[in-house]
Amino acid sequence: MTIEKNIQEILKTLEPEATRLHKTPHRVAESYKELFCGYTQSPEQVVGDALYEAPTSEIIALRNIPFTSTCEHHMLPIIGHAHVGYFPDKQIVGISKLVRLVECFARRLQLQERLTLEIAQAVHNVLAPKGVAVVISAEHLCIAQRGPKKSGVQLVTRHFSGVFCSDRALREEFLRTCCL
Ligand SMILES: [Zn+2]
Repeated sequence: MTIEKNIQEILKTLEPEATRLHKTPHRVAESYKELFCGYTQSPEQVVGDALYEAPTSEIIALRNIPFTSTCEHHMLPIIGHAHVGYFPDKQIVGISKLVRLVECFARRLQLQERLTLEIAQAVHNVLAPKGVAVVISAEHLCIAQRGPKKSGVQLVTRHFSGVFCSDRALREEFLRTCCL
């Protein structure tokens, strides 16, 4: 059964008589194509050949990357910001590609914890840097709209690898300069 047909069934259950909703299943199916387009992307595709020789041996970080995702437990939005940093070895990557890597994994059904790890692993795999640091803070509408019904609550998740694990000062520098 297609997404469109399934949404039709849900709407029939909620409002059996509502004729005004007849276009909604199609709209929802179309919006799902955008919300879940990450399933058709891979990190290698996203980055392509946008790799360049590293001119620096300092932390490179992109902070405040806004994203929306969808919680896999309730299919409700996750809205937040990702901070993605790496310590280059031989190569760096185009800035926009880091944004697109976040999108590639955010546009799937997600847990924030897994999203954090998947972004970090993708940066590691495509760049082979000396270390990767990812911090995400996000609000989950399944906490705001239902359950505890608290808005403004943010979940913060982090993943560090390589030099960010072994060098505490570097990790703290990343957190201080890139995540505040
Ligand atoms: Zn949820």
